[in-house]
Amino acid sequence: MSETIEKVTCLIIGSGPAGYTAAIYAARANMNPVLYQGTQPGGQLTTTNEVENFPGYPEGVTGPEMMVQLQAQAERFDTDVRHGWVTKVDFSGPVHKVWVNDTKEIHCDTVIISTGASAKYLGLESEQKYLKLGGGVSACAVCDGFFYRNQEVVIVGAGDSACEEAHYLSKLCKKVTMLVRRDEFRASKIMEARVKNTKNIEILFNTETDEVLGDGQVVTGVRVFNNKTGAKHEIPATGFFVAIGHKPNTDIFKDYLDMDETGYIINVPGSSKTNVEGVFVSGDAADHVYRQAVTAAGTGCMAALDAERWLAAKDASFEVSTPTYN
Ligand SMILES: Cc1cc2nc3c(=O)[nH]c(=O)nc-3n(C[C@H](O)[C@H](O)[C@H](O)COP(=O)(O)OP(=O)(O)OC[C@H]3O[C@@H](n4cnc5c(N)ncnc54)[C@H](O)[C@@H]3O)c2cc1C
Repeated sequence: MSETIEKVTCLIIGSGPAGYTAAIYAARANMNPVLYQGTQPGGQLTTTNEVENFPGYPEGVTGPEMMVQLQAQAERFDTDVRHGWVTKVDFSGPVHKVWVNDTKEIHCDTVIISTGASAKYLGLESEQKYLKLGGGVSACAVCDGFFYRNQEVVIVGAGDSACEEAHYLSKLCKKVTMLVRRDEFRASKIMEARVKNTKNIEILFNTETDEVLGDGQVVTGVRVFNNKTGAKHEIPATGFFVAIGHKPNTDIFKDYLDMDETGYIINVPGSSKTNVEGVFVSGDAADHVYRQAVTAAGTGCMAALDAERWLAAKDASFEVSTPTYN
């Protein structure tokens, strides 16, 4: 049963760098944003201990600390940050309807989607153990490759992203062993050629992970098996990178918004606009290319500015407060 329907000018779904940045801009533009955090307050960065590439932190910062600060900054301008999971939307009419925890119904002038994406993992117990310990399992070479300089790492995957990440790691690491499950790549020929022509990348076809090995704290190697012969062997490594894809958290929007085949929301190029008027997207929910905190924050800013301008165009009494720069 629905509680009383609430009316909101700007609803932000998600509390990662995209959502909080959108909130900072929307709040400072008098849009009284309401932000729902979802089940992962602070988003993906809360699962990492070291963020060294977000501008403004010369000594680096832990992911949870950075996200607490982003939340505080959004709240400083009176963003209404709430616990709750958006379970359903209806974007079919002029009023955008959103349900939280299946009960609370909200009618919104504008909606900013910042629901992010989740990296896929193999699901092995040993992989999850060292992932949770922050001991050498990662799904992001650009984020974590730097910590494995001059070391030996293993990467799993066979698509374009896996090839790109393996190539990125090859420039930092002493050796990269790439595990490919089938006897061929899924990647484009050009990406395949790039890894094949890189001296310190060794490719093992028909090879899968049996166990991520470690000393109880950090990864020390990977035991692999050949899925044709069953033969097993161990590869010494301090890092285990998983590059088997991401799943955008966008299922609840699929009846209304244009998406690619993986579920990334398609935005109008150069803006945060979706195919539905008044609904905007930011961060990893629409980004299968960069997937970084700073790009998520940047598109969060774009979404709030786009929402503000959209409101102003619709309602002459709503004044655009953001200066434009030439
Ligand atoms: C282990 C790890 C380390 C990383 N390290 C770095 C790094 O060092 N530097 C860097 O730049 N990037 C790093 N990244 C990538 C970075 O975390 C992401 O690019 C960034 O967090 C994306 O931000 P976002 O706001 O789009 O989404 P996310 O951070 O994914 O946040 C999504 C938010 O949406 C909420 N949500 C989802 N569905 C719903 C719903 N239905 N209702 C309500 N809320 C919902 C979630 O609870 C969450 O709060 C790392 C990622 C991982 C996994």
